[in-house]
Amino acid sequence: MNSNLSRLQIYPLTNSQLGWPEKLALKSSFGFGICPVCGKFTIFTNFTDNLRESGLCKVCQSNNRKRQMAFMLLEAIYETTGIKFSSVNEFTEQASQLEQFVNFRIYNTETTGSLHNYLTKLKGYKASEYLGYEYESGETIHGILHQNLMNTSFEDSSFDFVMSSDVFEHIPEPYQAFSEVNRILKPGGRHIFTVPFYSDRYRDEVRAVLAEDGTVNNILTPVYHGDPIRAEGILVYVIFSMEMLCKLSDMGDRVRMYDVRNPLKGILGNNALVFEHIKTNQVN
Ligand SMILES: [Zn+2]
Repeated sequence: MNSNLSRLQIYPLTNSQLGWPEKLALKSSFGFGICPVCGKFTIFTNFTDNLRESGLCKVCQSNNRKRQMAFMLLEAIYETTGIKFSSVNEFTEQASQLEQFVNFRIYNTETTGSLHNYLTKLKGYKASEYLGYEYESGETIHGILHQNLMNTSFEDSSFDFVMSSDVFEHIPEPYQAFSEVNRILKPGGRHIFTVPFYSDRYRDEVRAVLAEDGTVNNILTPVYHGDPIRAEGILVYVIFSMEMLCKLSDMGDRVRMYDVRNPLKGILGNNALVFEHIKTNQVN
């Protein structure tokens, strides 16, 4: 391609070069800064080539991706309430004393990890896992709430924020789940999420589909992601693209895509992408 034109190109996005904080973190395997999860000035250790999934906070064990979610949550709280918190720890410590948060409800689609651990201090907090097709949404199994995101047990307009971090790629009908999340959000509520995303493609990559009889038909070589509650890992059905932004926007909502790279907060790499699906005041 003509080099002048490639300089001007803004879509498809091309991954930018890594900056010096990333190069330093990869060389030394650590970085330092203020963690948006625990709020401490800390060392981020064990950075690997997979920057997004590494760099554990020495204090709270958050990784880079969890800090991206925390950062976005704090920004969304600031945008919706005008109150700025420097960490999720600070937010959960103070929320119970602030009238803006009396009826504030967050639903997180995971029950492990540092972000979840701090959020459990909030009164209006719910967290769940998907534990298998044999269970009904809303059942509690060995102390863990089970929810199928394609059909949860929550009432309409239940939550201010729904959070999911690398979950929707594992759902056979992800757009049904996006629409279900929209149903359980209050008007003006936000789904804050990360997913594996091709910044240079127009169409989602459908890797597998679930047949009506419950069998999985793999279209592409099966890929499994590590999962805190399943040793065998969890199958990837879809890797998202621009198509996701179009489909979410077609639901009549606002969709935003952010690059939240912020080395001073331990957020490194050229794919620090976080999304917001904001339910507009018009109830669907
Ligand atoms: Zn931390």
